[in-house]
Amino acid sequence: MKGLILWQNIIVKESCGVFGVYAPGAPVSHMTFDGLFTLQHRGQESAGMAISDGETITVFKDMGLVSNVFDEHTLASLQGFLAIGHTRYSTTGSSTWRNAQPAYRPLGSAGFALGHNGNLTNTEVIAEEIGMLPGVVTTDSDILAELIAQKFAESNFDENSSNGLKDTLLEVLPKVEGAFSLVVMDAFRLVGIRDPNGLRPLCLGELVETGIDGKQRVVGWVLASESPALKVIGARFVREIEPGEMVVIDEGGSKSYRPFELSSVESKLCIFEFVYFARPDAVLYGKEVHGARRRMGELLAKEHPVEADMVMGVPDSGVPAAEGFAKYSGIPYGQGLVKNRYIGRTFIDPTPEARFNSVRRKLSPLVENITSKKLVVVDDSFVRGTTSKALVKMLKDSGAKEVHMRFSSPPFKWPCFYGIDIPSREELVAAHVPLEEIADLIGADSVGFLSLDQLVLAIDEPGSKFCDGCLTGIYPSKVPNDENVELAKLKS
Ligand code: SF4
Repeated sequence: MKGLILWQNIIVKESCGVFGVYAPGAPVSHMTFDGLFTLQHRGQESAGMAISDGETITVFKDMGLVSNVFDEHTLASLQGFLAIGHTRYSTTGSSTWRNAQPAYRPLGSAGFALGHNGNLTNTEVIAEEIGMLPGVVTTDSDILAELIAQKFAESNFDENSSNGLKDTLLEVLPKVEGAFSLVVMDAFRLVGIRDPNGLRPLCLGELVETGIDGKQRVVGWVLASESPALKVIGARFVREIEPGEMVVIDEGGSKSYRPFELSSVESKLCIFEFVYFARPDAVLYGKEVHGARRRMGELLAKEHPVEADMVMGVPDSGVPAAEGFAKYSGIPYGQGLVKNRYIGRTFIDPTPEARFNSVRRKLSPLVENITSKKLVVVDDSFVRGTTSKALVKMLKDSGAKEVHMRFSSPPFKWPCFYGIDIPSREELVAAHVPLEEIADLIGADSVGFLSLDQLVLAIDEPGSKFCDGCLTGIYPSKVPNDENVELAKLKS
């Protein structure tokens, strides 16, 4: 079910950030705050954490940015040795307090809590299995929590048993389809799970202490959507959680399990994590994302060369690709736009006119830098064309002689079923307009898109595979019957 659509100025909207830490004796609530703060770009609508002191799980969540939801007083009151945290962007379920995560279910004296990044593709089947009434508005995390809670209850859940949560998850997870990077906790243990395609990222880190004997020992474990959230709390990156893997962390250390059919496991990380979603300092497939974005720009310059006076990037994620474009082409790099850093991400701009105008709210031209110049303007993605059109107009009104738009990914043509809020197919310009006509449509002097082959080459990880469903219409796993997609495929 589609949730409330809140339009976001420049790009498609990403989903959520998850974090978890198991660290007896450490300031766990402050660590979770720092981790969530680092993952803020993955979701700005609500933030929350669940923390356990071994007897009670306390959940604190609210609407707003991480720094608005938690203050020093709140963090000081959240005591424990184990916590999970979540920053939410609603792609399923509306943007309300009730849907903020972590989701919690009371079972026994402490219960369990869960945070989810991604989107399930078989929620209707699961909802029916757990007896949820048709038409009840809920979220994937709620459905998952309910499924786990029911299985716990059926299996005579013993919260003190080290196998209670683990065994229930091993039973439940094969029923779940779609994209899910999960952090789950009960009063004693932390669990990290990645779906069989690893569509959304999740990594593992460790907290290390040096003893008086000079030897290092592991004193805690951390899970995070992206590696910078490990770095910020002083944890060492260990590895990415593998697609189809479940890691259980408790006083005995960390243990790995494989809950899914082996035949369903195939790495297919969302390619847009590299293009736009992840932080530039995140490590995915063993590579720092910033380097991949620069290479996208280099290959874009090779594929779509143009004569110009200056290359500029659309802040923020267009900038590394613009640097790469400048390096390969030899055209000087310069700054042509200033971004308003304090802009919110939840403006409701329902009409094309409102969307067009709101570009000015977010970006402002550096007139002296662009006047009378032929510009190459590098952006990360092309969705409705409204932003590009407004941008080209703004730059030309500010004196640019020519504006050549270049995009470091192919244009969106299909919907995403895995948690990225891409507009409907009717609104995706490239699904209906031939690429040769897009320059005219947005008022640019020329347009060029990095091809899918070159995008994969830029990521430069031999043998790695990606989900590219929104570019090709070919999805790595079964997606819900979508009339829109079926009809479009028949026509194409
Ligand atoms: S369909 Fe597109 S946005 Fe969605 S997971 Fe796949 S590559 Fe990412």
